[in-house]
Amino acid sequence: MTSATSAANDLDAILARTRHLLLDFDGPICSVFAGLPAATIADRLRKLFGDHAPMPDDIAHSPDPLEVFAYAATVSTDLAARVEAEMTDLEVTAVATAAPTPYVHEVVTACQNSGRSVAVVSNNSARAVHSYLTRHGLDDRIGLVVARTDHDPALLKPSPHLITRAVDALEAEPGECTLVGDSVTDIQGARLASVQSIGYANKPGKRERFTAAGAGAIVNSLADLALRLRARVANPELLNYMLSLYRFKAPMASLCDWARSPLLFVYTQGPMLGMRRTISILP
Ligand SMILES: [Mg+2]
Repeated sequence: MTSATSAANDLDAILARTRHLLLDFDGPICSVFAGLPAATIADRLRKLFGDHAPMPDDIAHSPDPLEVFAYAATVSTDLAARVEAEMTDLEVTAVATAAPTPYVHEVVTACQNSGRSVAVVSNNSARAVHSYLTRHGLDDRIGLVVARTDHDPALLKPSPHLITRAVDALEAEPGECTLVGDSVTDIQGARLASVQSIGYANKPGKRERFTAAGAGAIVNSLADLALRLRARVANPELLNYMLSLYRFKAPMASLCDWARSPLLFVYTQGPMLGMRRTISILP
C-alpha cells in the first residue's frame, strides 16, 4: 500500500464515522486577516496596555492578536476584557475583507448531500463568525456556531471547551464528530475532546506538525475533503429518499444539474435491501 493510499484510507475511515463536521473558522472557512493583517490588530491591542507596558519581548513583537490577549489575561481581568472587546470589533472589521477558502462551499454542500451537519468551532469572536457567514450566504447552511464570547483565554483551543460545547449542542457522541483545523491547537483540542481530527495543511511544514500532534488525517486542499465526503454517505436512508425524489418527482432539469457535478458521486447501499449495491452517477 502506498503512503497516498494509506492517507486516503485514513480520511475515508474518519469520514465513515462522521455525522457532524466541525470547521475551525480562520483557515478552513476563510482567511480572516487577508485584508486587515493580524499584526496590525495585535499592534492596536498592545496600545490598550497603557501603564502595563513594557511587556515581554515575544508579546511586544507578536503578530498574533490571541497571544496579546492571552498575555493581557495574566495582567488583569479588566485588561483582558478590554482587549477582547477591541479584538472582537477588529475581527468584525476584518471579516468584511476576508478571503473565502477554496472549496469550502463545496465541503458544506457535500455534507448536506451526504446527511451530515456542519458547525463552526472557533477561537475568533462569535460576532465576527456570524457576520462572515451571513455575508457569504452560509448562515442558513451552517447550523451551529460555537466561538469566543468570553474574555477568558483558557476557554479557547487547545482547550476542549468549545469543541465539547459543540458536541453537546449537537446532542452527538464525540466519536461521530470531526474537527477540521489548520492549527496544531485544533488537533490538540480535538484529542482532548475525544473527537476525530483532520488537519488542513494549507502551508508548508504543517503536515509534519499535524502528524506529530496526532491528527487522524491530513488534507492539503478542501477539494480532497469534499470529494471524499461525497463518496462516504453518513445517512443512507436520507440519500435513498433524495434519490427516489429525483427519480420520480424532480424535473429532469434538476437531475441534469445534479449529474453535471464535477465529482463522482458513489452511494453504497447498506443492509436495508439485504445486499450491497453501488450506484455511481458520472457527470
Ligand atoms: Mg485556524
